[in-house]
Amino acid sequence: MTLIPVVRTKKALARLVAGWRRQGLSVGFVPTMGALHPGHAALVKRASRENDRTIVSVFVNPLQFGPNEDYGRYPRALPADRKLVAAAGASAVYAPSAAEMYPKGFHTHVEVEGISDLYCGKYRPGHFRGVATVVLKLFNQVRADRAYFGEKDWQQVRILEDMIRDLDMPVEIVRVPIVREADGLALSSRNAYLSPAERRAAPALRAALEAGRKEARRPNSRPETVAAAVRRALAGTGLKVQYAAVWDGRLLAAAYLGKTRLIDNLPL
Ligand code: AMP
Repeated sequence: MTLIPVVRTKKALARLVAGWRRQGLSVGFVPTMGALHPGHAALVKRASRENDRTIVSVFVNPLQFGPNEDYGRYPRALPADRKLVAAAGASAVYAPSAAEMYPKGFHTHVEVEGISDLYCGKYRPGHFRGVATVVLKLFNQVRADRAYFGEKDWQQVRILEDMIRDLDMPVEIVRVPIVREADGLALSSRNAYLSPAERRAAPALRAALEAGRKEARRPNSRPETVAAAVRRALAGTGLKVQYAAVWDGRLLAAAYLGKTRLIDNLPL
C-alpha cells in the first residue's frame, strides 16, 4: 500500500491543493477527529468517488469540548488513520496542531443561532459554536469543491448546511448515511470507551429509536408520544436518556452508558 502524505501546516496544505487546482483537479474534503472507523471510511470512499483528490483532516478540536468533557482522553491514532483513509482512496491527511489552528490571539467565532442551542447543543453549551468555527476555518484552508458529513451527527450537518448558505461559502455539503455494527450500534470513535458489558447494552439505543418510529407510524401519534416511546424502550437497559426528540423529519436521541455519551437518529 502506498503511504499518503500527512501535512501539518496550513501553508503545506495550500501548496498541495494549489498544485491540484493548477491541474484542473476537483477536491473533496472529509473533516474528522481521528480514531477512524468504517463510518469515516464510507465518507472517504464517497468523496474519492466524486472528486479527483480527497483530503481527510484529523484534528481533535479543543473548541468543541466542554470543560468536563473528554478532550484529553479522546482516542488518537494517526498512523492507523493514515492507513485506513489511504485504503479508502484519500490523497492526503491534514493533521494540524492546536497551535497551528488557533495561534495566540485567536478570538473569532462562528455562531449558527437558534438550532445550535437545541438537542445536543442544550447539553453541550458552546459545542456547535466550536464545530462551526473549526469547520469554517477548515473550509477556508482546504478550499474543497465538496465536503462530506455523516448523518450520524444529524444536527451537526444541518447546522453546517445553514452556515454555508448564510455565509455564501462556495462548497457543496454531501450527507452520507449512518454506518452501523451488525447489531445496530452506530459506529463512533467513542464506542472504544465502552466496557464489554456496556458494549452489549449499547444497541438498545438504536432499538429504542425503532420503537419510537413504530409509535410515529400509529395514526394518533404526536412528537411527545414518539419521544415517550423511546424513553420507555430505554428503561431498564442501563442507558440513561438525555433527550429524545422529533426534529427535521428525524427521530434523534442521546443517552449515557456509564460515562460514555452515545447519539443516534433515524428518518421518520
Ligand atoms: P468525528 O470524527 O466523530 O468528528 O466524525 C467525523 C465525520 O464522520 C462526521 O461527519 C461524522 O458524522 C461522520 N461519522 C462518524 N461516525 C459515523 C457513522 N457511524 N456513519 C457515518 N458517518 C459517521
